[in-house]
Amino acid sequence: MPSHSSIRIRLLAAAFLVVAWSGCSLGSTPDAGELDPVYARPAETVRILTLAPDQTLGEILQGSVSTSQQYDLLLAFQEQASPRRMRAGTEITLRYLTDNDSLRGVDVALNSDRTVRLTRDDDGWHSETVVTPTYTDTVFAAGVIRGSLWTSVVDNPALGQLPVQDRVGLLNDLDNVFQWQVDFSRQIQEGDTYRFAFERQVRPDGSTRSGHLLAAELVNAGTPYDAIWFDPNGDGQGSYYDLDGKSVRRAFLMKPLQFTRISSRFSLHRWQPILHIYRPHEGVDYAAKMGTPIMATADGVVIFRGRDDGFGNCVKIRHPNGWVTLYGHMEGFKRGLHVGSRVHQSDIIGYVGMTGLATGPHLHYQMIHHGVSVDPLSVKLPKGDPVPTNDMAAWRVARAARLSLLQSIPAAGPVRAAATADAPDQVAAQGGG
Ligand SMILES: [Zn+2]
Repeated sequence: MPSHSSIRIRLLAAAFLVVAWSGCSLGSTPDAGELDPVYARPAETVRILTLAPDQTLGEILQGSVSTSQQYDLLLAFQEQASPRRMRAGTEITLRYLTDNDSLRGVDVALNSDRTVRLTRDDDGWHSETVVTPTYTDTVFAAGVIRGSLWTSVVDNPALGQLPVQDRVGLLNDLDNVFQWQVDFSRQIQEGDTYRFAFERQVRPDGSTRSGHLLAAELVNAGTPYDAIWFDPNGDGQGSYYDLDGKSVRRAFLMKPLQFTRISSRFSLHRWQPILHIYRPHEGVDYAAKMGTPIMATADGVVIFRGRDDGFGNCVKIRHPNGWVTLYGHMEGFKRGLHVGSRVHQSDIIGYVGMTGLATGPHLHYQMIHHGVSVDPLSVKLPKGDPVPTNDMAAWRVARAARLSLLQSIPAAGPVRAAATADAPDQVAAQGGG
């Protein structure tokens, strides 16, 4: 059980009360030490360069260091990363000794998690990769939905400490977990409630490196849906189960794209805009931007990857129990994907395009059962596997711990808010549910 180092209660609006708090878990000491202040000497001047698009590390160092030094620096850098494949905007920090203007160190921030540090001693230049330290932290939030789930979660003041993209990520995680029970875009109602605990690895700037929901509850139209994370092998390949140990997942995702809209439905008689004929449309079309990642909707094996006439770039995956899924009009395939590749549910297999017979970028998605195409929007998707019998004892322990964690979060509802200078002591209006 985590201890909560701080409790914050805030009043959002008269009709919308959110209670949440956040704190570090017990025993969650930082999993990496603090950065050594290697360059903290005062007798130093610093110059920061920013990589332009298509610029290489060698090019940007030209003019700042001598040719021989540039060569040695690149050699040392290559031990850690490729100097040719760096994103525009990469910051390169040059550190000089103030008294004689000689270069004594270079930091190249590859991304928010990794920095290549180049230092010089009598033998020449040396390199190391410094990984940004993170710590573990658990975020708790609860709310009554007013307007949409989106605004309720993203604008939840209890999550105000999280960068916006992390709040959006949380919402996506909730959507991913509950997608089979509740259609977030259509079924969420005013007065529905949610509460969740989310464990994350946090960088010093407060952004999330990685994380996942530990436990979540959504009450939709009076029906509670619970999801408990259970990862018996501790390898991150766990899954979500309801309180009875049944999978909240189905064997197939509801849809192969995260953000999308349906542009054409399954139909036995549809006008084909390019061929100008009527013919069956045996799948669902999802409009999305070029390059949008496409996910395998279920575990399986790739049985086709290539051009397939009107479907253009196409992938077909075989799944257990006589199922095949087909993904058409792709811009390209995920690198390394080939016939025979094993894929897991939600693995990215390629990207949205408009190859083959397509008037605009979209994904054609088809589900075939024992050779017959079925409508992905109305087919009853097979259930995911329950907690394995061998893991039952561990499941009961995990379930009890995560459930009490969830229940320790006050459900949003009538709660007395603390008095502050700005907000006189008052009792919040009733929350739903
Ligand atoms: Zn189609």
